[in-house]
Amino acid sequence: MHANFASVMPQALAVWCEEAGHEVSLICYTGFEKVPLDLPHKPDVVFIGAFTQAAQMSYALSAMFRAQGAVTVLGGPHARCYPEDACQYFDYVLGFTDRELVRNLLADVQPQPKGGIHLQAATQPTSLPGVRERWKFIEPTLKKAPIIKIVPMLSSIGCPYTCSFCIDSSVPYQPLDFEEMKEDLRFLRTKFRRPRVAWHDPNFGVKFDDVMDAIEDAVPPNSVDFIAESSLSLLSEAHLQRMQRNGFKAILPGVESWYDLGNKSRTGKQQGIEKVEKVSEHINMIQQYIPYIQANFVLGLDGDSGREPFELTKQFIDRSPSAFPGYSLLSAFGRAAPLNLEYQRNDRVLGFPFHFLNNNQAMNVKPANYEWPAFYDHVIDLTRHSFSWPSIARRFQAIKARIPRWMNVVRAISSEGFGRIRYYSDMRRRLVEDRMFRGYFEGEHTTVPRFFLQRMQQDLGPLWEWLPKGAIEHDPKAYLKANGHANLTPITRVAGMAAAAR
Ligand code: SF4
Repeated sequence: MHANFASVMPQALAVWCEEAGHEVSLICYTGFEKVPLDLPHKPDVVFIGAFTQAAQMSYALSAMFRAQGAVTVLGGPHARCYPEDACQYFDYVLGFTDRELVRNLLADVQPQPKGGIHLQAATQPTSLPGVRERWKFIEPTLKKAPIIKIVPMLSSIGCPYTCSFCIDSSVPYQPLDFEEMKEDLRFLRTKFRRPRVAWHDPNFGVKFDDVMDAIEDAVPPNSVDFIAESSLSLLSEAHLQRMQRNGFKAILPGVESWYDLGNKSRTGKQQGIEKVEKVSEHINMIQQYIPYIQANFVLGLDGDSGREPFELTKQFIDRSPSAFPGYSLLSAFGRAAPLNLEYQRNDRVLGFPFHFLNNNQAMNVKPANYEWPAFYDHVIDLTRHSFSWPSIARRFQAIKARIPRWMNVVRAISSEGFGRIRYYSDMRRRLVEDRMFRGYFEGEHTTVPRFFLQRMQQDLGPLWEWLPKGAIEHDPKAYLKANGHANLTPITRVAGMAAAAR
């Protein structure tokens, strides 16, 4: 993860720890620099925020810091999705986390050699430290970002939509304090000639007029570059005109599927080619106002079968050349989404090591309507089409702004485009040539193929030695077991320290 994608929460946590009277160092480890084996001061408590793809690294770091006498705490997406697994390797594992929870934890933090304690607040925090308070932690993080520096901000949490695969689908939408947001934007203009802000809202602009009123009140039109992730349903022409006036430069709408999730793309019941036509028209309209568009898709959803969904995406690429396609292979991240219970109940979730669960390197849900080689054939074909030289050229020509058009070329020829074609082709070859490899994908056995073990060892470098025994595997049905087979409640929400659940 590049430093420009650094999350808000570790910075908020650092502020809360300081408020509680602690001396705090925050390190943003991007994966490109030397592994942070030595911290500036010998820490009493180490908090690690990790996505699931960094789980094994976080487990190894936890083991290393525990050996040095520190108490370790895991937060972030992996802690939310796999608390049972993470409790084996950390003293504390945090779900929803707020100021009070952190304060209570720090008041009585103890090593937990018999197994970590899972804590979570009743809801996501209703307020977060602003940019001014986080600045001392934002600044060193941005030093790691070459040339372009992007500050993370939030105007809301949760989402009113209920996309079944999404971690925010069960989190109620809640706007954050607009006055604080205005203050943050004004503050940033004292730090940069032209700040760049990425809104980390799951779905930016649900309360569109309120948030735009706040931006317009805080800073002159088009004085800050904004990036946001938003559903197509929110991107009407009137909204886009206002966004353009206010400096929105990049937008990442989710299309996800041609056969599902019509509400969020304003296509209602339309499916297949009708939806392609409508979405393409919409994307082409967006391009008149916003220079950079990434359209996101999930590949392998249960509503898809055969060649058609992939062919439709290829048609979309040709009809809307300005949009960079972002593909994710369907993945079930533990407790992330209610739908995962159904996958687990139907024996469709595979125990791929967390290290590969980044939506691309491994797909941990057996596709409902495809054999694995055929599925990879379609994915390879689509990726080749998306990043063929004619498609790259059309994308380049369709965009006038210099940075976005070149950024698309770089992304296409890097690991995201050409690199994935090579990787998926390699997967496909192994699936047909290596019986043991294929058997793992089919769920016939649970011995992690050597290919994945070697890659993980290489990626972890010196931390491989610290990876605890058993930490390569996890129970892919932990969520189902915790909930009882018939219970579809996504997670038990409990408050504060009383939530301790071993
Ligand atoms: S619209 Fe986006 S953020 Fe909201 S539930 Fe769907 S995928 Fe998640």
